[in-house]
Amino acid sequence: MSIHFKGQDFLSYSRQNEWGIEQPFNFTLDNDTEVAVWDSGVICFTPKVITNSDIILSSGIHGNESAPIEICNDFISQIIDGKLSLETRVLFIFGNPASMNIGQRFIEENMNRLFSGAHSSAPGLVNRERIRAKKLEQYVERFYCSEIEGRERIHYDLHTAIRGSKNEKFAVYPFLHGAKHDKRQLQIMAACGVNTILLSNSPTTTFSYFSSVKFNAHAFTVELGKVRPFGENDMTRFIEVKETLKAMLSASDMGLTAFDPADFNLFKVCRAIDKHQDDFEFYFADDVVNFTSFPIGFKLATEGDIQYKIEHQGEAIVFPNANVANGNRAVLMVVPTTLDENL
Ligand SMILES: [Zn+2]
Repeated sequence: MSIHFKGQDFLSYSRQNEWGIEQPFNFTLDNDTEVAVWDSGVICFTPKVITNSDIILSSGIHGNESAPIEICNDFISQIIDGKLSLETRVLFIFGNPASMNIGQRFIEENMNRLFSGAHSSAPGLVNRERIRAKKLEQYVERFYCSEIEGRERIHYDLHTAIRGSKNEKFAVYPFLHGAKHDKRQLQIMAACGVNTILLSNSPTTTFSYFSSVKFNAHAFTVELGKVRPFGENDMTRFIEVKETLKAMLSASDMGLTAFDPADFNLFKVCRAIDKHQDDFEFYFADDVVNFTSFPIGFKLATEGDIQYKIEHQGEAIVFPNANVANGNRAVLMVVPTTLDENL
């Protein structure tokens, strides 16, 4: 609870002011950490002593993905109460407080398809999620560009998935345009309990790709498990990620183990199947988990006269969703890969 947020924690305060606050404001903690509230769900901490990385932890880009929102809100409360002392600048972002309030992924449009300028492409800034995505881009820029150049930039965009996963926690590594994948970042993911990494093969309109391509941040979309309602998460499943991120924020030992390729399940995207018609339909059950593979020739989906079949050995599904709007991705298809190809 905080006097600065009308006796509430920052999450409740943000949810009460779902699309914005009247005035940005600042205050200073007893340990001299500067706190700046830039917007609803957007809070920046600058401690007196700072080490060499600027960290963004975003959550709630999809409003019903409660676990990472609760984890970040806990961090924010602990920092404000003086229980967690920072040695890094950190920007916390709760992406879509309004959709949290209705317990849905989004109000009008999936915000994680609106970055890298997609918010303003046709039909333009026509809904509040588009306007919010544009503002979030500006906050990321303000955070990374207001400080000394050359500092390491990190952005973990934290989510939970609609489906369960064969590999409960996994991360999407944005397309790096030929640059090397970073081993230390993979070690940090492993310390968080995230051993499955999906290497993206093209530009996208996700939040993590935006920070990666625009600001050269080490960025990931991190999926921490399955979506559950607020208050119903088994927080013991998140101990590793909480402890690792906490150590990162306070610049203490994250307990990283030596890099070993055998520690990781690595996949690369081989194609995306888009939905074009209302009758798009999958031929596997709703409870089939992410990273499930099927034999070559297996009929995955149909729409109209078109059939989509498995084309490659080991080809597996990720993020299947037949309910997306026409023109959007219905499922991402991935195949196993090795580190030698990609590091
Ligand atoms: Zn999500």
